[in-house]
Amino acid sequence: MSDLTTLTLKAALDGLADKSFSSVEITQAHIEAVEAARSLNAYVLETPDRAIEMAKASDARRTSGTVGRLDGAPLGIKDLFCTKGVRSTAGSKIIGEFIPAYESTVTANLWRDGAVMLGKLNLDEFAMGSSNETSAWGPVVNPWRSNSGNAKLTPGGSSGGSAAAVAAELCLGATATDTGGSIRQPASFTGTVGIKPTYGRCSRWGIVAFASSLDQAGPMARTVEDTAILLTSMAGHDPKDSTSLAVETPDFAAFVGKSVKGLRVGVPKEYRVDNMPPEIDALWTQGIAWLKDAGCEIVEVSLPHTKYALPAYYIVAPAEASSNLARYDGMRYGLRVEGSNLTDTYEKSRAAGFGAEVRRRIMIGTYVLSAGYYDAYYLKALKVRRRIADDFDQAFEKVDALLTPTAPSAAFSLGDKSDDPVAMYLNDIFTVTVNLAGLPGMSVPAGLDANGLPLGLQLIGRALDEGTLFSLGGALEKAANFRSKPQKWW
Ligand code: GLN
Repeated sequence: MSDLTTLTLKAALDGLADKSFSSVEITQAHIEAVEAARSLNAYVLETPDRAIEMAKASDARRTSGTVGRLDGAPLGIKDLFCTKGVRSTAGSKIIGEFIPAYESTVTANLWRDGAVMLGKLNLDEFAMGSSNETSAWGPVVNPWRSNSGNAKLTPGGSSGGSAAAVAAELCLGATATDTGGSIRQPASFTGTVGIKPTYGRCSRWGIVAFASSLDQAGPMARTVEDTAILLTSMAGHDPKDSTSLAVETPDFAAFVGKSVKGLRVGVPKEYRVDNMPPEIDALWTQGIAWLKDAGCEIVEVSLPHTKYALPAYYIVAPAEASSNLARYDGMRYGLRVEGSNLTDTYEKSRAAGFGAEVRRRIMIGTYVLSAGYYDAYYLKALKVRRRIADDFDQAFEKVDALLTPTAPSAAFSLGDKSDDPVAMYLNDIFTVTVNLAGLPGMSVPAGLDANGLPLGLQLIGRALDEGTLFSLGGALEKAANFRSKPQKWW
């Protein structure tokens, strides 16, 4: 039954519906695949007993005839989502063996609709990173390998565990989060689909906070349709998150396969950056041609403040992180190192509990918020953020969506950039603008580079217009006909 792991989520739901197999069977197949893939380090916690229990309950519901949208489908959960009674670590030592007494709204929505939890997925510490190397659990290894060597590659970050698990068929789909690209860049690095919905579409309640004005949950899966099915369950208004939008959640899957004829797609000229590998440029041109063939009108647009996005992001995100992470003080959560007095205990606990990248963010964030520097850095960054959002507003007067590359490179080797934070931050150049403006963004696998590694294209939409992204993403997916899979070596 191990081929059950190769199904798309949609095909699996159809198979469950017509009783070709049971949830216990497809869940068991995934549990075995997860156990056989430990060398990827995608899961930081496997919950097979819970999974089987949930699968049995789903099969019982199936017999009684009352099933939800995701009934019986085994999923992986990024370990940034609090899961009731199941250790949740955010990839950090400072949280220790924290077992939440509550369930995040997004995961609660998935369980409400009948999904099965296989376990918790690795991530960069507090979702800070672009390579999964800042995780206290060690890096995730990308199931993809270059055809010119066996070096271990990053699956991207921060949702590296989600991306690797989806690509290696260790779940039918996964939850992820995106503060500055953490769904889209790993999707691009692993040949998977990921969408960061509009800020406020999914509740942030119960998700460990990184930068609250940017954080947003979203799904990763192997097809555009699968992400649409997942997002329909994950999204929805939640009074427990004051930034959650009180809007209806459409059936996103209904947009996949819809004609994109007549849609206007913008190509922002500022995204043609220096030193972009020619293959990525060529893929972008190919993507434009595909959408043109599908009947879209292509329009060149300008987003003039793009070059300030990365510096603004790396002020706003650390500023919010320094504030959010103040709560980890050795008093309330797991790790505590006893000092000679209260301040000493705070300092020792935080020094021992946070990794280097998180400490760097806390220092940058505290600095840009401090008296005397606030106006020069934080306030300035907020003004840039406004300008970036205005650029998008103006572009969306002329076009319905934008097409760009997702990332300026394919997956790189583990260790390649870990000593150079600025080089690492530069990987987020095409993704952070979308978070700063609160817009939906999707990455769709579009091709392979000369080394046989996947590359993604990004679609950016108007606020709350994920539907158009699902239609365009479906069109791109169909045209690209991306069927490659990583060769199984693990
Ligand atoms: N790579 C970015 C960062 O390190 C984005 C991370 C994210 O989206 N969670 O901040």
